[in-house]
Amino acid sequence: MSQTHPYNPPIILEPDPQRRQNRIPGWYRFYIGDIEATIASDGRLRPDPPEAQFPQVGKETLHAILRRQHLPTDGLIMEQNCLVLRVDGRLVLFDVGIGQDRTIGSDETGRLLDNLAAASIAAGDISAVVLTHAHCDHCWGLVDESGLPNFPNAELFLSQAEFDFWTDETKISQSETMSLFIKGARNSLLPYRDRIRFVSDGDEFLPSVTAIASAGHSIGHMSYLIASGTERALILGDVAHSSALLFENPDWGFLFDYDDKQAVTTRRRLFERAVVEDLILIGYHFQFPGVGHIRRERDAFDYIPAPILHR
Ligand SMILES: [Zn+2]
Repeated sequence: MSQTHPYNPPIILEPDPQRRQNRIPGWYRFYIGDIEATIASDGRLRPDPPEAQFPQVGKETLHAILRRQHLPTDGLIMEQNCLVLRVDGRLVLFDVGIGQDRTIGSDETGRLLDNLAAASIAAGDISAVVLTHAHCDHCWGLVDESGLPNFPNAELFLSQAEFDFWTDETKISQSETMSLFIKGARNSLLPYRDRIRFVSDGDEFLPSVTAIASAGHSIGHMSYLIASGTERALILGDVAHSSALLFENPDWGFLFDYDDKQAVTTRRRLFERAVVEDLILIGYHFQFPGVGHIRRERDAFDYIPAPILHR
């Protein structure tokens, strides 16, 4: 007579869809001075080979750096770390991910609303959405599949140069990529047209939040400085896409840079400032949660991910 041991029941391993879901980071909470900050992920973008992202750099050079940092060489990890601040009782969201799009996005993206909910943040409670720029992976998540705002009570902040460039219908005929990007930006930004506020360099447009012009990657790219108590954090946006590559090699251009010379000048200027002023860095595409520090390393820089602290 066979008998199943009570402490050794048969284990049946079925494929579990949650396993894939859980492979992608969700959310992380920390503080900048007295300001509560949450990184909520919109998921990880499809990993293109690094040599496709940095076409001017040799494949061998790229792979050697990635191997040294124990990172995959077949695809560059590109997270979408969206930041939410609770300032003066208002919830402010910086960049919103690619949303439900599946042409550039995948089944590993479009997670922002779920991750906000998991972090106890209701989309309807967000009173300001602030964009670094209007590329697909930063603004298409503004609307749902039917084109309705995902953040119905939010004002939208971005630079006028960025808005004007990406909503200009005359550019649709320039190329297939341009057509996709312009249509996507119009679809995402225009439903907010009555509550758009343009920000300029140096504006403290919300309490503790100051805009810093950082054009180069895009024509009207903005970074943002957050100040609270003795701490200050710099929201880089796409001033640097990869912490593994661009601190060590700040002079490299990135495939989608609007003006790669200007992008490099901007990157060096903000990196220098972050070193001198000891700023916390928040990198949108850095490995989750994308919070860290910078130090000078010979004529370049080094990135130090922040420890996960509890307070
Ligand atoms: Zn981006």
